[in-house]
Amino acid sequence: MKQLNLVMFGAPGSGKGTQAKQMAEKYNLMHVSTGDLFRYEISNKTPLGLQAQEIINKGGLVPDDITLGMLRNHIVKHSDCNGFIFDGVPRTLKQAEMLDDKTLFNNLNISKVLYLHVEMDEVQKRILKRAEVEQRADDTPETVKARVENFFAQTMPLVDYYKEQEKLIEINGMQNIEHVFSDICKVIDNL
Ligand code: AMP
Repeated sequence: MKQLNLVMFGAPGSGKGTQAKQMAEKYNLMHVSTGDLFRYEISNKTPLGLQAQEIINKGGLVPDDITLGMLRNHIVKHSDCNGFIFDGVPRTLKQAEMLDDKTLFNNLNISKVLYLHVEMDEVQKRILKRAEVEQRADDTPETVKARVENFFAQTMPLVDYYKEQEKLIEINGMQNIEHVFSDICKVIDNL
């Protein structure tokens, strides 16, 4: 059976994780968040975790080969699932190219990329609010600024990359969680 592989694309705090969790449950897909994979490595103090921790705490991006190596190890373990929802990856053009590279990611075909579009002031507000709730070490005002800047500099170019592949679908992320989810479900149901 052909897998349905979706990329959740959007700024930090745009709601990718929240939506991805609900989508995974409804459509029986595997939610893969590279941020969560890194947090797992960090909490287990693995060599990879120790290497990534400093970069993550500063709001930087972990090098592409390390990130995609970790992702690859994770997805080969779940290769028999119905499909993946990628949350927080790819974040650079190089990562998108690596994901498309059939020698690295055997048989993986990205079906669609859902772009959760949220205005910038809203993004900053949401992340700072999340910091209070989740107490994430990388949600301080300085790191939030770095992460938002990284998003514009390194991740935004992916919009054109996926537009060219006719895979990009824009979703209005400024609505409440239920409305965003309902828009996403309409898209998935039409695929
Ligand atoms: P997230 O939970 O997706 O916001 O990720 C938390 C942090 O993990 C990011 O700010 C980065 O430092 C790191 N990270 C997560 N995914 C990636 C990725 N695809 N490439 C590089 N760094 C990543």
